[in-house]
Amino acid sequence: MDNFWDFHIHSGLSPCAMDDMTPNNIVNMALIKKLDGIAITDHNSVENLSSFYHLAKIKDIGFLPGIEITTREEIHVLIFFEDLTPVNYIREVLQKNLPDIQNSKEIFGNQLIYSMDDQVIAEEKKLLMNATKLTFEQTLNLSKEIDGVLIPAHVDRKSFSVLSNLGFIPPEFNGKFLEISEGVSKSEFYKEHPSTKKYQILQNSDAHQLTNILERGKANFFNKEPYKSILQSLK
Ligand SMILES: [Zn+2]
Ligand SMILES: [Zn+2]
Repeated sequence: MDNFWDFHIHSGLSPCAMDDMTPNNIVNMALIKKLDGIAITDHNSVENLSSFYHLAKIKDIGFLPGIEITTREEIHVLIFFEDLTPVNYIREVLQKNLPDIQNSKEIFGNQLIYSMDDQVIAEEKKLLMNATKLTFEQTLNLSKEIDGVLIPAHVDRKSFSVLSNLGFIPPEFNGKFLEISEGVSKSEFYKEHPSTKKYQILQNSDAHQLTNILERGKANFFNKEPYKSILQSLK
């Protein structure tokens, strides 16, 4: 069976995402785009993962729980995990490590937590845009602790990326994949950053609005057979 995935989508919990990035809207759009699976990766929060996880099961589309953490160095990293088991632990870690600054909705946007049927059941009060106190290395350790996979996000960008902020991929990173922005040429990227040639590339939508979710033809392709799960194929 083929697997076409978009691994980087923000729900309306991310302040910068549209409020209509609800579980049903995102899952239905992914189905319209003929994707086999999606991951939700909100900024510094796991609060919408449960609704997406259960809805995806009902709608029979693949779902990988994830998060986009902003490290202390202002680097964005994606972490994926097999199921909802580590959600409480990740929540605890973030509560300790995200600065206690309130969201200003007028400036940054809403941070909405949805039920499976798209009702807004709560709003996150703490601003999710801020950098956490976790270093890049600590996020690597977090991903190991939860048996997850860490993928440095949009490493081609001039800000919020490991290459722009550190200038190199830290040697302790032992993952297989880097993410570069959609539309960036892989070969140009490798040419510009020869040291990254040993890594494989994912290109996701980083969608903050529904229409940006990847079409099947642009999605990341995996042949499922050799792997136990999509998470295993990212390891
Ligand atoms: Zn990002
Ligand atoms: Zn993102």
